[in-house]
Amino acid sequence: MAYSGAVLQRARERLEQAREIARNEANERLEKAYADCPRLREVDLALQRTMAQTVAAALASGSDPREAIERIKKENQNLQAERSWLLQTLELEDDDFDPQSVCELCGGTGYVGSAMCECLRELCRQEQKRELSSLLDGRESFDGFRLELYPESPDPKLGVSCRRVMKSVRDRCFDYARAFRTDSPNLLFSGGTGLGKTFLSACIARTVAEGGFSVVYDTAGKLFSDFEAAKFQTSEQTQARTTKYLDCDLLIIDDLGTEMTTQFTQSALYQVVNTRLMAARPVIISTNLSPTELEDRYSPQIVSRLLGSYELLTFCGNDIRLLRK
Ligand SMILES: [Zn+2]
Repeated sequence: MAYSGAVLQRARERLEQAREIARNEANERLEKAYADCPRLREVDLALQRTMAQTVAAALASGSDPREAIERIKKENQNLQAERSWLLQTLELEDDDFDPQSVCELCGGTGYVGSAMCECLRELCRQEQKRELSSLLDGRESFDGFRLELYPESPDPKLGVSCRRVMKSVRDRCFDYARAFRTDSPNLLFSGGTGLGKTFLSACIARTVAEGGFSVVYDTAGKLFSDFEAAKFQTSEQTQARTTKYLDCDLLIIDDLGTEMTTQFTQSALYQVVNTRLMAARPVIISTNLSPTELEDRYSPQIVSRLLGSYELLTFCGNDIRLLRK
């Protein structure tokens, strides 16, 4: 599961915060015990001192340290006994002053061996959802997709009604999102403005992200401007802006074809499409352009990949945004 650098960093920060809170709470418990029983603080300080004395005695040259160490050991044992007794009267256990473990599985480090622990994974999921919800408007759900807004009468060009076409498109998207895997196929949404392409891709983004996969959802315009920025700068942060498009489990590019197409956007698009194809990482692209219009606008290398390796879903109907008004 490849979460973007930014998502992973925020998740790690939250895990570190949780550990910090646990440490502070443990410290507060200790301070409270000291306040209730000042003698406990004295004993703890004395214990620290005997520890240092033992080390000093062991390192002292010239004389036999055994006698000194024996004496310090005895003192230490007396202090330990007094400490146990004090804790008992306070009805406390020794480990009450240890920070509570943030996670039993990884001890709060976020990793078990080299594998990401479930606790960090969950934080990544939450951070990613937060990132997505800043882009999505929060209402996108398959249940909210209104088929009744698509004409029921047969479309003269298609021979079937747009409602039927769109029902199968919606069902395909639903199945895709529910059964998503990191090697799921690529989808190409094609059709005019206001036919629900953005809505359905947002539904997929949400469902797939809820399944714990990393999803990057952006307009083509944003993707190109990130690549543009990374072209001139080499800082890690700018690089991370483009690598997320290549590394995430599912990349959704909205509104392809609305950008000003240049040599640069062609090469950035080719890089994204080709890199992800080579790595078998799924992409969903939505565009207002028809396959023929794609051929007119983009290089044959791009178009052959889009039309050859993407499952085409054609959207039809009348602009829903106008119908809703
Ligand atoms: Zn953990």
